Amino acid sequence: MTDRIYLSSPHMSDEGYEMQYVKEAFDTNWIAPLGKNVNEFENELANKVGSKAAAALSSGTAAIHLALKAAGVEKGDIVFCQSLTFSASANPIIYQNATPVFIDSDINTWNMCPKALEEAFEKYPNVKAVIVVHLYGLTADMDKIVELCKKHNVVLIEDAAESLGAYYKGKHTGTIGDYGVFSFNGNKIITTSGGGMLVSDNKERIEKVKFWATQSRDYARHYQHSELGYNYRLSNVLAGIGRGQLKVLEDRVEKKKYIFEFYKEHLGDIDSIKFMPVNHWVDPNYWLSCITVNGKVKPIHIIEALEKENIESRPLWKPMHLQPYFEKYDYVGGNTAETLFETGVCLPSDTKMTDKELKRVVKAIRKLW
Ligand SMILES: *Cc1c(COP(=O)(O)O)cnc(C)c1O
Repeated sequence: MTDRIYLSSPHMSDEGYEMQYVKEAFDTNWIAPLGKNVNEFENELANKVGSKAAAALSSGTAAIHLALKAAGVEKGDIVFCQSLTFSASANPIIYQNATPVFIDSDINTWNMCPKALEEAFEKYPNVKAVIVVHLYGLTADMDKIVELCKKHNVVLIEDAAESLGAYYKGKHTGTIGDYGVFSFNGNKIITTSGGGMLVSDNKERIEKVKFWATQSRDYARHYQHSELGYNYRLSNVLAGIGRGQLKVLEDRVEKKKYIFEFYKEHLGDIDSIKFMPVNHWVDPNYWLSCITVNGKVKPIHIIEALEKENIESRPLWKPMHLQPYFEKYDYVGGNTAETLFETGVCLPSDTKMTDKELKRVVKAIRKLW
């Protein structure tokens, strides 16, 4: 059997940067709590994306949760959330006992549809926050979304978990709204094995997030708590992996782009395949190369044909408004998210893939036509 080809798996630097920072943590016994790697990882990431402050957290999900809390989202509040996404975008709304309203996607961006968002604002004028997602390293149509949020005086949270290294009109994703969320989960463009980051230009709010994330310990010698706390900080060891990974982010984006262009070149002649929309105002990170198919060949045929060749692929995210857990909540829009789910496939986009392996993927797909 040939080696398995993955969708997107951890890819440490050839130079061994990650181990250097991890070793430093061991040598200084800053295994826990926090330490230099955490502080520097925050500074380095904030500098890279162009944000004034950052909090390193245990996951992207924790970052979304504390972004909602920082936005003042409480029990009974309404939060608009892009429907086409991973469940981690929406779960923290429930952690805060708030109510999600799901919003359709725009076929031209695959992300939140500004028209559906406008409609939602008319229906729920008292909404507290909006969660927009930048799926697969593409970006939403942010100008329109920012304008709508400003007009209604609502906090905008960008779930940029999949879009580290991606820019919208020259601005890094996650720095356009009020809060930005990144994830360093194992399959993301860079990884700490698990971890996340919350960024914002509001330094005071980020300090508050760090306070909540360390059990809300008041400034006192004894253990005193005036607020509910969480154990959400990133460990100093894992932050070391993150610092090393950050050094190769541009290399990873370059390879991801190469993979996307390779598929375009070798599959672009098949009329019933369409590639994910790369708009002129986006510099994507190409986290996953995604396609939609119409005609006789369905996504499941592609996924099964690849699996037979020991190659991993998967459908696009199943929209939240179609999830058994979330279907009781309201949804605003048409059937774009649903159509994308029904017709889309994420192709293997692992940055360790060789040309030979890319050809293996292409060959397995072409056999179906
Ligand atoms: C991965 C991901 C998250 C969650 O990040 P974790 O670090 O795994 O908690 C949130 N939103 C989206 C869109 C993601 O892809």
